[in-house]
Amino acid sequence: MKNKAIFLDRDGIINLERGDYTYRMEDFVFVDDLVKSLRKFQKNDFKLIVISNQSGIKKGVYTFEDVELLHNHILRFMRLNGLSIEEIYYCPHHPDTGKCICRKPDSLLIEKAMARFEIDPAASWFIGDRPRDIESAAKVHVKGTLVESNSSLLAIADTIIQTLANRNEHV
Ligand SMILES: [Mg+2]
Ligand SMILES: [Zn+2]
Repeated sequence: MKNKAIFLDRDGIINLERGDYTYRMEDFVFVDDLVKSLRKFQKNDFKLIVISNQSGIKKGVYTFEDVELLHNHILRFMRLNGLSIEEIYYCPHHPDTGKCICRKPDSLLIEKAMARFEIDPAASWFIGDRPRDIESAAKVHVKGTLVESNSSLLAIADTIIQTLANRNEHV
């Protein structure tokens, strides 16, 4: 496992958490400093991977197509800003209609990403705004960073990059 990654929750981290499902373009707003923050990670060779619960699909609030449209928008926006997101993984299920193992706090989606991109969990972080984000990461020994919804990740990026640099100095 040779690569390191920053796993990112979507709502509240990439785009504004508005206290309701976000599936329409007109409700979709990127969080402040997102491009600057992700550039810091990318410059330090972190792969960027999004892991999201989208139970609104199973609940019938919106469709796979709605989600794919938004995700294409995210990926295009990132590309235009010189950023590459490896993948946006999402769980479409809802606990009311049956148990799945991909919905956070479960860790299947992170495990898939780790296998596909050969991610070293010890050199990787999950940034989320809910305890379930951090719990899912802990299950696969990825460090979690819980941040307030819709907040800039600039300071977090500096801290993570510095933490890794300090650790490498001591190896
Ligand atoms: Mg969130
Ligand atoms: Zn699921």
